[in-house]
Amino acid sequence: MQIVSCPSCGAEVAFRSHASVMAVCEYCATTVLKDADTVKDFGKMSAVLEDYSPIQIGTTGVLAGRQFTVIGRIQLRYAAGLWNEWYLLFDDRATAWLGDSSGLYTITAEFKGGAALPAFDRLKPGNNYTINGAPYTAAEIRVADCVGGQGELPFLVGDGYQAKVADLRRGAEFITLDYSDAAPVVYTGTAVTLASLRCQLLRDDDTILRAAGRYRGTLSALDCPSCGSAIKYLPGASTTLVCAACQAQIDVASAKAQVIAAGERVASVATTIELGATAKIKKQDVTVIGAMRRADDDGAEWTEYLLYGANAGFSWLVETDDGWSSATVLAEWPQAYQPGADHVMIGNTRYNSLYTYGATVTWAAGAFNWRVAVGDVTEVEEYQAGQYRLARETTAHEMTWSRSRSVAGDQVKAWFGAQFRGEVKPARSATAARPPAASPRCDLANYIVVFMLVINAIPLLMDFSSTWYLSALGVLAIYLPADHLDKNDKS
Ligand SMILES: [Zn+2]
Ligand SMILES: [Zn+2]
Repeated sequence: MQIVSCPSCGAEVAFRSHASVMAVCEYCATTVLKDADTVKDFGKMSAVLEDYSPIQIGTTGVLAGRQFTVIGRIQLRYAAGLWNEWYLLFDDRATAWLGDSSGLYTITAEFKGGAALPAFDRLKPGNNYTINGAPYTAAEIRVADCVGGQGELPFLVGDGYQAKVADLRRGAEFITLDYSDAAPVVYTGTAVTLASLRCQLLRDDDTILRAAGRYRGTLSALDCPSCGSAIKYLPGASTTLVCAACQAQIDVASAKAQVIAAGERVASVATTIELGATAKIKKQDVTVIGAMRRADDDGAEWTEYLLYGANAGFSWLVETDDGWSSATVLAEWPQAYQPGADHVMIGNTRYNSLYTYGATVTWAAGAFNWRVAVGDVTEVEEYQAGQYRLARETTAHEMTWSRSRSVAGDQVKAWFGAQFRGEVKPARSATAARPPAASPRCDLANYIVVFMLVINAIPLLMDFSSTWYLSALGVLAIYLPADHLDKNDKS
């Protein structure tokens, strides 16, 4: 640890990691630049936006038996929302990043070996790129602005700092390519949960309440800035609201709720399950926070309900003329996905391609963890294995995979009780001509949901300088799908 005096206010500023080049003075927000034995005042850093994250500078945890401390943070904003990158210092002085977006977490560390990388402008979601000898599929490509920072950081960020990053996936592995500087940097990593990291010194609910004015995940109401209608949403879990009355798109991932796009008044759409309805599904409390209708190329429409629970995370219920299905985003992608191939493999399960179609959002209301708008078009390809379906959804900026399984209408009705209106439809038929997909699209943190209990078994971050360690993660691909299917079957 090196202690310096803030060049602006004289307070002590600590550099705990030798890798840090800057630190933000916690008293006066001056960016203190460490340069050889001197320090420089690099101007004020913008304060981070209150975002309900339970993580803070000083939070500790354990990854694969190694203790770490959170020593810095940058907050980044892109078209679909806001996320944090927390800078971690391990006891053995190694560093890593903990990505934190809408309560979904990933840990990545810089890969120090050389790897030939595609140009940023050439990357396209769904295309494969060979990196260090293995094919990876581009999942999400985004340009984000740094909106604030805290603590110490390994590179200089400030107002105007722009991050150009791409996430690529292969089975359970993922890598982030960071093109922000002239020489792109590769980060390799995995998805985690705070519980699996045994985090300590997290902000408790009361601290978050004091800072943000309310608890994370408790229902709050906001008057639509466009038409004044009350909109209920879950602070900390939503980035975009769509007003049911006027279809205005409202950004709630910034300091002040702002209208992104005004909408047109529409006749109210009656859905079978109302926004705000609650249920206990697989012993987890969930709330319907958003609903949207989409139409395929032939104009056939269906409804998708976005469910969120503090412990359950995000999931979907999909209602079509053929019945109901439930879906979750896949933490683990198919191995060796090839665009246009007639099947994909997850573990030993072969999913055969059924059909590809365009899906267009025709109506939306409530809260979403990505930016949704009427008119959004997504290319959907569905695959089938027995009663399970996979859906690949691709836009110009991202590709996601989800898995769904049919649910009996009686079951959905039992979950929601009196909040379920209308007739009971059967479970989705396995032979239906074109049952639409679920669309669990969200932002960079889609990686997670159910698989991460095994993460402590991974020898993560052991020796990045000599090992492309992710090959170890390939092992996960073999048993995780079975694990997931088992869980689904126990519902
Ligand atoms: Zn200061
Ligand atoms: Zn409105």
